[in-house]
Amino acid sequence: MAEFTRDAPALDDILSVSKVRQDFPILQRKIGKSPLVYLDNGASTQKPRAVLDAVQRFYSEDYANIHRGVHTLSQRATQRYDAARETVAGYIHAPATEEVIFVRGATEAINLVASTYGREAVGSGDNILLTAMEHHANIVPWQLLAQEKGAEIRVLPVDDRGVLELDALDSLLDERTRVFAFTHVSNALGTVNPVEKLIAAAHRRGVPVLVDAAQSVQHLGIDVTALDCDFLVFSGHKCYGPTGIGVLYGKRERLSEMPPYQGGGDMIEHVRWEGTTFKDIPERFEAGTPNIAGAIGLAAAMRYLEELGRERIARYEANLVDYANETLSGVEGFRMVGTAPDKASIISFLLKEIHPHDVATFLDAEGIAVRTGHHCAEPLMRRLGITGTTRASLSFYNTREEIDLLAAALGKIVRFFG
Ligand code: PLP
Repeated sequence: MAEFTRDAPALDDILSVSKVRQDFPILQRKIGKSPLVYLDNGASTQKPRAVLDAVQRFYSEDYANIHRGVHTLSQRATQRYDAARETVAGYIHAPATEEVIFVRGATEAINLVASTYGREAVGSGDNILLTAMEHHANIVPWQLLAQEKGAEIRVLPVDDRGVLELDALDSLLDERTRVFAFTHVSNALGTVNPVEKLIAAAHRRGVPVLVDAAQSVQHLGIDVTALDCDFLVFSGHKCYGPTGIGVLYGKRERLSEMPPYQGGGDMIEHVRWEGTTFKDIPERFEAGTPNIAGAIGLAAAMRYLEELGRERIARYEANLVDYANETLSGVEGFRMVGTAPDKASIISFLLKEIHPHDVATFLDAEGIAVRTGHHCAEPLMRRLGITGTTRASLSFYNTREEIDLLAAALGKIVRFFG
């Protein structure tokens, strides 16, 4: 994590945040009498005008169903959908466009892999390795599979700071491990996992990996070619795109060997009563009419992020997180949960003995949006001996002034509860 000092370059030198905020219409609104301070970006991000306009333009100018029509609009819609896939492939550095499958989100992508690759590869007595900091979306699909197949779920532990205990990796990965699925960045704590090391350890034993990039693609940038991951998943709505669209990246050789996930239109080659043949990837995994506008919106989000500059976004956010850490640690009774040395834009905390829901309700009265609870990571909360936290998750459109407002509001809450 970058060292923060109060003499550090003004954030505006990295990114012109006041200008950036103009791109997000919702950031201009008020909650009651207070300006909105949106610190719930880990749950979902707000949408820039570029995304809103792209979706609106598609529906008002080019809308039709794709792939099945010879008429102009259908062809234009198809071109735009295909172009969206190319943009996404470029953004994550996928070697081939068809390795990008559009799905509803990270959850559906993981379910797809568990139900197809998993059903084929995992048998009785095999094991599936996860980590102790997974989101439920990267636990439950594997549990369902393990129950069906009589396989074992293994868990790479975390220490009290929320850092993976890598020493345990060697004994957990073995010749019966069929997949290692882990999150790049913890949604509950912000820990950035050493993804390259985890992938290398798995590959040394011939174990395929699935990287859950739901909390990293919007902060750190992703290069699937450099990572050499077998699968990678993320959701559009967490990276400034629309809801209901997400991505499964998979290596061609993996995806082409996997049986279909859902059956129906667009994934078939020929249907006969005797049996059906299927298209190649990506269509094989996109049964039915896809979220065409969602894909177009997601591509617009990725172009927007590219224009801002990934490196600048990462630097700005790292600087803002350091400022937040320093400022919030000055609040009486503030206790950070998750103190890994390498953290992304998530600040999970407890405030004295005050219930996180009370904290969030008070903050909402000041126009400050945060999230509370177990953050869909109940096993992690149990490991840390707590039931939940308050979580402020930051974006490049947040400012130091907003962090100051959060700190001031937390101070008020502490005084109120005595
Ligand atoms: N994985 C992680 C790390 C997440 O933070 C989330 C959502 O919070 C998910 C998976 C599931 O994402 P979605 O609900 O968009 O499918």
